[in-house]
Amino acid sequence: YATTHEADLVVIGSGPGGYVAAIKAAQLGMKTVSVEKDPTLGGTCLNVGCIPSKALLHNTHLYHQAKHDFANRGIETGPVNFNFNKMMEYKVNAVKALTGGIGMLFKKNKVQLVRGVGTIIDPKKVQVKGEKGIETINTKNILIATGSEVTPFPGVAFDEEQIITSTGALSLKAVPKKMLVIGAGVIGLELGSVYQRLGAEVTAIEFLGSIGGVGIDGEVAKTLHKILSKQGMNFKLNTKVTSVKKEGGSVKVEVEPSKGGTKETLTCDVVLISIGRRPYTTDLGLKNVGIALDDKGRVPVNNRFQTTVPGIYAIGDCIHGPMLAHKAEDEGIVCVEGIKGMPVHFNYDAIPSVIYTTPEVGWVGKSEEDLKKEGRAYKVGKFPYLANSRAKTNGEPDGFVKVLSDKTTDVILGTHIIGPGGGELINEAVLAQEYGAAAEDVARVCHAHPTCAEALREANLAAYCGKPINF
Ligand code: FAD
Ligand code: NAD
Repeated sequence: YATTHEADLVVIGSGPGGYVAAIKAAQLGMKTVSVEKDPTLGGTCLNVGCIPSKALLHNTHLYHQAKHDFANRGIETGPVNFNFNKMMEYKVNAVKALTGGIGMLFKKNKVQLVRGVGTIIDPKKVQVKGEKGIETINTKNILIATGSEVTPFPGVAFDEEQIITSTGALSLKAVPKKMLVIGAGVIGLELGSVYQRLGAEVTAIEFLGSIGGVGIDGEVAKTLHKILSKQGMNFKLNTKVTSVKKEGGSVKVEVEPSKGGTKETLTCDVVLISIGRRPYTTDLGLKNVGIALDDKGRVPVNNRFQTTVPGIYAIGDCIHGPMLAHKAEDEGIVCVEGIKGMPVHFNYDAIPSVIYTTPEVGWVGKSEEDLKKEGRAYKVGKFPYLANSRAKTNGEPDGFVKVLSDKTTDVILGTHIIGPGGGELINEAVLAQEYGAAAEDVARVCHAHPTCAEALREANLAAYCGKPINF
């Protein structure tokens, strides 16, 4: 067991940003060491983020459909029930399979794993404090990929049973009767949906006048609000929370209108606080090398992901930009390519966002609100799923696709989808936008029939010439 290692690159953090960067670096011939403090690899996304939330979203969706929709489709089942422990077990196994998979990929690509908390001692040295003691890695380069953590709510302590973060919500022991969600952003809507489908009375409290978090198009947000309300989720918009207290077995949440006014006390069994995440750089030793965080606690980097210290780089949730797994991964890849002297290109206008509710919401590029703010002249092409043969046949007619393209050049500036398979279909729009396509380009591409993707084509047709065929 060696206590000193030599490396070309040390990647601190094995989330989607760090583990992908480590594999790519090793593939490019660098002697790469990955440092991870947690017992399993994969960071937030695989352990307590994307993966467990999607396991619960998928299975609760199937349950809900079996219970409330199968009969309409001529499928007779008898009573439909759920086994919550089994659902959680399924989630645990999905997470295990994927986090274990990273270990295998590390072996295959010869990435060395050192377990423990990594601290930067100087630009060429990382110290790792683990169960086995202290290990030192001498290295040519360091990549910071330490991710993010939940933003705390001032004055509120999480017990992860009744006052919970997303992590607690992914591991509750039972379905609460009454659940309050503070913050109707991505996490609030996704995890709120999970428990609403399982029978909890869910109310989301949102400071702003709309749901869905940052970047969502206003029209999409309104439609999502309407659809989720119809599904049974309650919303209190333009409302701020002033206190959260445990009292006699339940939780009391005091709220008032965002602009001030009469206070009201809401009672619940469980309150999920999902008001955002913040960069995590605890114990990283940034002070040892003179790296100062910005006003939002992020590690400042230039467009090659270089910090102010030569040889030290940073990517993912701990730097600027949306906190998304695919953004972290892609930054990781181009960052290590840059270390090897290859070009570094990253288009922040072509990062998709998806909210995995039913129906799914997906978008890329500018919203109408963004374009209005910029004063840019644009065209709108819209196509409703109600007029899409596949969505209609499948009995999933809610939602639409909206394409925004430049008024003169027709170049696509943004695509917004709410509807069946929106999270998959958005990738086609991302491809078009990344390649600088005009709406006419997508409108002229042959699309398989009958598919929901035809709605995207029709919306592009509408943007380009004002006239879709089927609507
Ligand atoms: P992280 O995944 O946070 O990984 C950082 C790693 O660094 C962690 O393993 C941590 O233990 C380790 N670390 C930190 N400091 C040290 C240190 N000093 N030494 C050693 N190790 C250290 N994004 C999506 O794109 N799609 C989704 O569907 C999605 N769903 C989500 C659902 C939830 C409930 C949450 C909370 C997040 C979700 N996200 C989703 C966001 C996504 O998880 C993050 O954007 C992503 O994990 C960021 O990757 P990262 O590599 O930058 O950091
Ligand atoms: P978010 O930024 O998406 O939403 C937070 C919401 O809380 C916002 O709408 C905000 O207006 C509201 N809010 C803030 N303070 C409030 C207060 N005091 N009272 C009431 N409302 C308040 O953040 P999140 O949902 O916590 O998610 C965190 C991050 O995780 C996001 O940045 C997101 O990128 C990532 N994530 C992504 C996915 C996905 O890609 N599907 C899923 C989950 C999480």
